[in-house]
Amino acid sequence: MQTLKEKVERSIQFLIEKVGYWVTPLILNFKDGKNKLLIFYFHGIYESESQKKLNHVDPQNNLTLSQFIEFIDYFLHHKYHFIKPQDLSENLPEDQAYIMLTFDDGYFNNTLAIEILNKYKIPATFFITTKNVLENTSYWWDIVYKYRLKEGKPLEKIREEQLYLKGFKYPFIDNYMNQNFGCKSREPWSDIDRPLNTSELKKIFQNPFATIGNHTHNHSILTNYTAQEVKEELSVSNKVLFEITGIKPLAVAFPNGNFNTQTLDVTRDLGFQFAFTTINKLNSLPHASSRFICFNRFMIQPISIKKYASLNRLGYTPKSLYSDIKKGFMPSKKTQFLNPAK
Ligand SMILES: [Zn+2]
Repeated sequence: MQTLKEKVERSIQFLIEKVGYWVTPLILNFKDGKNKLLIFYFHGIYESESQKKLNHVDPQNNLTLSQFIEFIDYFLHHKYHFIKPQDLSENLPEDQAYIMLTFDDGYFNNTLAIEILNKYKIPATFFITTKNVLENTSYWWDIVYKYRLKEGKPLEKIREEQLYLKGFKYPFIDNYMNQNFGCKSREPWSDIDRPLNTSELKKIFQNPFATIGNHTHNHSILTNYTAQEVKEELSVSNKVLFEITGIKPLAVAFPNGNFNTQTLDVTRDLGFQFAFTTINKLNSLPHASSRFICFNRFMIQPISIKKYASLNRLGYTPKSLYSDIKKGFMPSKKTQFLNPAK
């Protein structure tokens, strides 16, 4: 149940979203995103609204193909330059606004997006959870979602169960899946919820607009693991990706966006050049000589891009803007005691 405070906060964020729709485009006339890099992350793509209604996957803000095309058209219209991580090692022209697209997990349905990327000649990075690809198994959060929904569980309870499982390492989650849903639950229901297979992944790698990145072997939330285990998760995934594509990935996206100093240290030591988080902020264009870059990303929304893009272009979500406004009006205890009387 939502508390009154949560309800008020939600309403304020909703208001920011509504007002932002009208106000932010005006602000963007003066602040146009130049020399900034805006990165979005996607999960799955639906062929159509009717495919979405089948509930074969946890929606995770997945877009329909027509919403994806609208997204691309919007940023082309606003003169954004679509780039890939490797482009940052060159000196990119200044006074331009840049955008990068990333897809997490390795769903087969991402091939729908690839057709559009090819058509528009736009690059994107695909972060692959390698165990699902090797075994052709459904992702565990989709299993929880589709089976519990079939049982008639409310969405709130499904989210609670998923959140609970995110606190554990993969052997516990594996065991939980078997106990609660049976071994058969691993079998995908259709092309909507299945991962890419190895030959499809190889084909994607050969596409000049696609870059393949590491998303760990077991979709492990790395903050639950020791440094040695983090190293193993990333290394096994790299080994699998190398065997399939013949390249060593330079980029990693942390599952669920979770990372800490240990995660960053191990990632850097393994030779990765780019790490992708889910911190909702813009990126300043990194210097070409930066050896290890940690990127912020915004999650796409399953609504018209015009309704949320301008706030993201300014570097905010309704939630993060509300949080910044609160900080501005309500000084924290720390700042109150900054100058103690001595
Ligand atoms: Zn993921």
